[in-house]
Amino acid sequence: MPEFLTPATAEDLENSFQQLKPYMNPTMAHYESARCLFCYDAPCVKACPTGIDIPLFIRQIHTHNTEGAARTIYDSNYFGNVCGKVCPTEVLCEGACVYNHQNVKPIEIGRLQSYATSQVIENKSKLYELAAPNGKKVAVVGAGPAGIACACELRLLGYEVDVFEAKEQPSGLALYGCAPYKVNNEDVLNEVDWLQDQFGFRLHLNRPVQTADQWKKLENDYDAVFLGIGLGHTQAAHIPGEQLENVVGATEYIAQIKLTPLNTRIGKKVVVIGGGNTAMDAASESARMGAEEVVLAYRRSKEEMKAYEFEYELAKSVGVKGLFNVAPVTILGEDRVEGIRLAKTRLEDGRLQTLAGTEFDIPCDTVILATGQEKMTALLSQIGGIDTDRQGRIATDPRTFQTMHPKYFAGGDVVNGGAEVVNAAAEGKAAAKGIHAFLHHT
Ligand SMILES: Cc1cc2nc3c(=O)[nH]c(=O)nc-3n(C[C@H](O)[C@H](O)[C@H](O)COP(=O)(O)OP(=O)(O)OC[C@H]3O[C@@H](n4cnc5c(N)ncnc54)[C@H](O)[C@@H]3O)c2cc1C
Ligand code: SF4
Repeated sequence: MPEFLTPATAEDLENSFQQLKPYMNPTMAHYESARCLFCYDAPCVKACPTGIDIPLFIRQIHTHNTEGAARTIYDSNYFGNVCGKVCPTEVLCEGACVYNHQNVKPIEIGRLQSYATSQVIENKSKLYELAAPNGKKVAVVGAGPAGIACACELRLLGYEVDVFEAKEQPSGLALYGCAPYKVNNEDVLNEVDWLQDQFGFRLHLNRPVQTADQWKKLENDYDAVFLGIGLGHTQAAHIPGEQLENVVGATEYIAQIKLTPLNTRIGKKVVVIGGGNTAMDAASESARMGAEEVVLAYRRSKEEMKAYEFEYELAKSVGVKGLFNVAPVTILGEDRVEGIRLAKTRLEDGRLQTLAGTEFDIPCDTVILATGQEKMTALLSQIGGIDTDRQGRIATDPRTFQTMHPKYFAGGDVVNGGAEVVNAAAEGKAAAKGIHAFLHHT
């Protein structure tokens, strides 16, 4: 396993979490933008969930019109800077770039995007003029990518907007979730600061909206309410030993690493349960934080993992070992974790079976459960009239993002069940347009 010492200083952290997509300098951006073929009907644009005019912004960078490039990006995606760093570009724009057909490295679209947007953020450039106030007010609940994108678009259209956020910082999982080697906290918060300066929405931090009375008050005080509340805590695995000390949920563990990295306990021998992108992040981050051994245990085959292949490769590159077709049986230990008992699994008639008599133990001092996030059904039941599907996702009109309760709109993870920052940003913006259409016909 490569040596990553447990970081003790800010400098150590920088070494452990070196940026995968560091900012380009002007010379690099100039040469990289020169490679773009400015394709007609560009496949990279079609592959972007927010439909950014990629050849246009790349040409603007090449002609030194960096502000114009940033404007092209933000016109489609309010999280242009963060997305340039955290988007799975390998399977989106860069994966679709025509250069892939010629075995040539695709254009580094994500890095060019962050190059242009970082400059307007740093220079505090004013890019937008807002429409005249239209006399209507919207409440946005949740200051993650979906909520903030919705707030920006509504302000552009002339609405008064109050954003209510439960936590003490805005940005949702872009801040509390995305891996520190993809984006650092400062860059995430700077983009939201810039957006707030630009669009002037009111941001109320430490203000959870929870009770039926609070929701009623929002309904009375505002013309519409947008729900960008994301997902909840890590789901229980329902196995004995889950209550032991040093069994942690992946999202809570990652949030701790993001916010208080030097005060987060990192085990020496860590087992991560799961096969999604969050499991890969929890494993990679443990290794980079100095764990000596990190095992990723997944109940199905490697090919069936939900995680992107490049995320698994990234975890392997820092020494994480994959163990497939195994299910957790019991977490072992008296008060705290001492090991985990796993059993082999096999697919029989399309159903996953745990095979009796195949149990084996792995000694470890930490178990991380990457078993998915809970849905917000209990919170939604306080509102009333909001329908959810069988998987607990809010049911909305796919075009307007209006829920079954006409005053409420929703977007992001709470609707799509958990996707990427770019999807949440796209849905928040689309919902703002849905709210606008609704309020102008009522
Ligand atoms: C560990 C992890 C790593 C990830 N890595 C990536 C990545 O590399 N790239 C990528 O593109 N995506 C990544 N994602 C996914 C991405 O972060 C999410 O899809 C995106 O943030 C969803 O945005 P959202 O606004 O819908 O929800 P969230 O980002 O979850 O924001 C919801 C906000 O609502 C607030 N809230 C909730 N309830 C209330 C309430 N009652 N009152 C007020 N506020 C409330 C929350 O505090 C939160 O700030 C990752 C997710 C996780 C868990
Ligand atoms: S597909 Fe590649 S070369 Fe073509 S416009 Fe997009 S980034 Fe440029």
